[in-house]
Amino acid sequence: MRIDIITLFPEMFDTVMSESIIGRAQKSGAIDIVCHQLRDYAFDKHRRVDDTPYGGGMGMLMKAEPIALCFEDICRQTDTKPYFVYMSPQGKTLSQSRLRELAHIENICVLCGHYEGVDQRVIDTFIDEEISIGDYVLTGGELPAMVFADALSRMVPGVLSNNECFTEESHFNGLLEYPQYTKPSSWRGLDVPEVLLSGHHANIEKWRKEKSLEVTAQKRPELLEKIK
Ligand code: SAM
Repeated sequence: MRIDIITLFPEMFDTVMSESIIGRAQKSGAIDIVCHQLRDYAFDKHRRVDDTPYGGGMGMLMKAEPIALCFEDICRQTDTKPYFVYMSPQGKTLSQSRLRELAHIENICVLCGHYEGVDQRVIDTFIDEEISIGDYVLTGGELPAMVFADALSRMVPGVLSNNECFTEESHFNGLLEYPQYTKPSSWRGLDVPEVLLSGHHANIEKWRKEKSLEVTAQKRPELLEKIK
């Protein structure tokens, strides 16, 4: 999968997207994350990427033309028309089930807004989907884009090794994950549940299923309603 990111702050992605699992996935070629500096596509006299909103009001808006030129350049570079996502607090809240669907797409382009957002005509003309990471407002789309790219990348085959597999994790099957423990088996008087030390796979499986339901009922009871 290739993820192109349109942003005014490409440096913000350097560390986050080059470390750990996502960094390894990029090195192995399972994913390719390419950031584009939007300012490089501002060709008017003052190379402006933002301007005041018509009708007045606070703040600045990102101009349509640099975004259009950048996206069109990405289309040329990739020889395709990537699925174009705008990170926006007005979008549908990102979910694991939507990520599972999107992980099948080969080319995704992500637009990070800033200031008061972007000219509506860009959204109407180019954007396939607006995605929010929650009902709150951040200063820019860079952190949401990193959240999206990270969560999406780990669903791509070959990114996680078997022992980091996502199918048992919270939200994959609509439930939260069971509690987990590591060595030592006894820590400050607290013991790991006996069944996990038993080596009896069927019993461990049963315990995990029960705990998964119990934890979900305690922490996020509304999730149980959804899978009924
Ligand atoms: N004026 C916009 C509104 O009220 O809908 C908010 C603009 S926000 C200050 C600037 C940019 O941050 C947005 O264009 C978007 O790209 C990003 N952003 C802020 N909150 C977000 C969220 N919850 N999810 C995704 N992107 C977000």
